[in-house]
Amino acid sequence: MDPALAALGEFGLIGLIRRRIQHRSPGMVLGIGDDAAVLAPDGDDELLVTTDMLLEGVHFQRRWGRPRDLGRKALAVSVSDIAAMGGHPRHALLGLAIPADGPSLEELEALLGGLEEEAERYGVTLVGGDTCASQSGLVLAVTLLGRLAGGRALRRSGARPGDSLWVTGRLGASAAGLLALERGLRPAAAWPADMPRPGWLGAGEEAAIQAAIQAHLTPVPRLRAGQALVGCATAMIDVSDGVASDAGHLATESQVTVRVLATQIPIDTGALVMARLTGRAPLDLALRGGEDYELLFTAAADPRPVLAVAVPDPQVTRVGEVSTGPGVPILVHGDGREEILAGGFNHFRGPDRSVPDDGAARSSPASG
Ligand code: ADP
Ligand code: MG
Repeated sequence: MDPALAALGEFGLIGLIRRRIQHRSPGMVLGIGDDAAVLAPDGDDELLVTTDMLLEGVHFQRRWGRPRDLGRKALAVSVSDIAAMGGHPRHALLGLAIPADGPSLEELEALLGGLEEEAERYGVTLVGGDTCASQSGLVLAVTLLGRLAGGRALRRSGARPGDSLWVTGRLGASAAGLLALERGLRPAAAWPADMPRPGWLGAGEEAAIQAAIQAHLTPVPRLRAGQALVGCATAMIDVSDGVASDAGHLATESQVTVRVLATQIPIDTGALVMARLTGRAPLDLALRGGEDYELLFTAAADPRPVLAVAVPDPQVTRVGEVSTGPGVPILVHGDGREEILAGGFNHFRGPDRSVPDDGAARSSPASG
């Protein structure tokens, strides 16, 4: 244990957190420091509640990135869940389990700084949490509360036959970043001397890999887009386990068949580069990689006009369609061939092994 942290103790650390955080969201009557926080009701709004855990060795390796980025990601993945309901994030709770072998007090302060930076970006206030020692790695568990007008939440179950399927942004970046980190590449670091550098890899490709690493370490939740889609999208989910898995959730919950068009999937450039570098299929990274935190949604009308009003550069692609039939996702290939769209990350099974790749198992699964 870092001597500075030991000297501070549990209550010293809680005191430090309490002093550092800013109150920036309406509705907090009482924050950190009592047995429970007190939040005021907000008119007829409904309360959205979500929780996500980030476990060292399961979701991240401490040596891969900066503590600040880890703090940012811990909140960002929960903001993504609120975004996927169309809601407004407000108050957060932080469960923190700290192992004896680190992080140091300085690293914890950086982590809290990252969390606070992200909280400021999305108008969130930390109102409580729990702090303990861990026997097996660093654990960050964020619970996020959000608000939304009654009855407006965008569920997974609202897709109807005739809707089209859309996705924001580009897919596969996070999976590509994870592959790069597993292979020893580091954020903002030069190409490792002990790693073969293929002749085709230029500065542009290396920049794309770096962007993918950043996408993995600090995903950007599509909050404005999610909020703008209330009243337009019929069903929505954030892409945490991979479109293969998440389109499956929309299909099952809505009891409709969701067809995903392989040729329409917007694949991130970093994913194309890492796929070539590792012998994986780019489409596999895009559909089964996970942790993109893009929004996958269905709509009866073209969502682009609504999104254009809310987001400066709304990247959104029509990637499929909804029809009557069994509640399963189907992948439609360019030649018209159809197959059940399987795969995506599953915590109790790991990465989908039916998909051919170079044998590199995914070690850091999706968290959402
Ligand atoms: P209790 O024993 O009642 O659980 P604690 O000593 O754990 O109380 O917590 C005291 C106060 O500090 C509470 O308001 C709690 O929400 C807050 N707190 C504890 N840990 C954290 C943390 N990691 N982040 C934010 N607030 C925390
Ligand atoms: Mg406690």
